[in-house]
Amino acid sequence: MDNNNLSKEKLWQIILGEMELQLTRANFVTWFKNATIASLEDNNETAVISLPNEFTRAWFEKKYHKIILDILQDNSDNKIKRISYRVESNLTPTMETEKKSVSLEEIMKQEPGEKEMEIDKQGLNPKYSFENFIVGKGNELAHGAAVAVARNPGKKYNPLFIYGGVGLGKTHLLQAVGHEILKQDKKKKIFYLSAEKFTNEFVKAIREGKTEAFKKTYRNKDLFLVDDVQFFAGKEGVQEEFFHTFNSLYQKDKQIILTSDRPPRVIPALEERLISRFEGGMIVDVSAPDLETRMAILQQKAREKNINIDKDILQYIAVQIQSNVRRLEGALNKIIAYHELNKMPFSIEETKKIIASLTNVPRKAALSPRELLQIVADFFGIKFSELTGASRKKELVGPRQVAMYLLREELEASFPLIGHELGGRDHTTAMHAWRKIKREVDQEGRIKQEIEFIKQRIYNN
Ligand code: ADP
Ligand code: MG
Repeated sequence: MDNNNLSKEKLWQIILGEMELQLTRANFVTWFKNATIASLEDNNETAVISLPNEFTRAWFEKKYHKIILDILQDNSDNKIKRISYRVESNLTPTMETEKKSVSLEEIMKQEPGEKEMEIDKQGLNPKYSFENFIVGKGNELAHGAAVAVARNPGKKYNPLFIYGGVGLGKTHLLQAVGHEILKQDKKKKIFYLSAEKFTNEFVKAIREGKTEAFKKTYRNKDLFLVDDVQFFAGKEGVQEEFFHTFNSLYQKDKQIILTSDRPPRVIPALEERLISRFEGGMIVDVSAPDLETRMAILQQKAREKNINIDKDILQYIAVQIQSNVRRLEGALNKIIAYHELNKMPFSIEETKKIIASLTNVPRKAALSPRELLQIVADFFGIKFSELTGASRKKELVGPRQVAMYLLREELEASFPLIGHELGGRDHTTAMHAWRKIKREVDQEGRIKQEIEFIKQRIYNN
């Protein structure tokens, strides 16, 4: 940067200036007070940002990475190409801060984004390896299958289809296979992406007239990892393309691994030929970990962060948070952040307060009818406007009735309100729908399973 006289100090000041404009004061102070650009390396192509702890690093990677990189590129004539983060524990504050302590409310407001950063060129996040995956009840079968596939790609189970609720380690396992295969052979062509990304890329390729290049990219892999294939629900064009991609890889004995929040047959509006492909290999599920496993996961996460934390505290978290590993980890992160930022030793009292504020959200009241309808629409792969619209097509009437049933059962909404929310229908329509679905649920049919999956989405996020 010498010749265009932008020093790392100056760049950092620019970043601070921009971030201060974009963030609340509390957030700005919390996350930026101990951060700085430590150096510019690789011929000034890499900015090394040093941060005070692992938690802040994860936060930067998830929330601020893109914007900081944009600022750096804009202010270096695109010379800076990437950021690497370094954790240094003995940093002294690099800017004046008025606030000394961080309140519980501030920590609570800070919900890390769901979206994982795609870290390397294969799309893999280095965090998700077999080494730091805890095996226990609920995931041992899925883990075993993933290990078997990593040892024998394309031969053992193809495809491997992993399904289960939110935050139970599906993405982690999927990527662990990728890392493992790369470890054995660096030259292997591996690709990880979400079904959503695949869809977007496909749409883009069509728009830009580059479908041939698209096909070439995806059909030329040794290991193809596709996350959250329930996203294909109801999207015919991309299902067709995916079918061909799948076949092309499969015929060459290339390993394919897929994840989903439900088994293939329960993905609505998924073509039969895709269902039978998905069912053609091995299907395994992941379910919520038991207490012992949750405890082991917390210990592992604390170890990864180099944090010494009492077993009692971990035990308390593990007992309180049961259904979702991401939330378990989130709770631990909040507790660590709260204590670190306030420079306090860990205490069970503070832990209890933090957990209470995480778990006491009154669930039913927390969700609006609109939000519930959106979840139902997403589940069935239809638009919100179709769900609430006038069309009486069979593919829409079924989901609509399920939506009315759920509004009644989960939000305790009145029938007139339900009618109103669904595009101004009569309350008798809502009553009829509720009764019909209730009958089917009582008969334990397929609808019941669908409703269970939707409820998981309602309550698991
Ligand atoms: P999913 O894809 O099923 O929604 P993820 O794979 O994203 O869930 O997992 C959510 C978080 O929980 C990740 O940070 C992951 O590392 C962690 N996690 C889940 N299961 C385990 C496990 N068995 N051992 C260690 N970490 C886990
Ligand atoms: Mg996932």
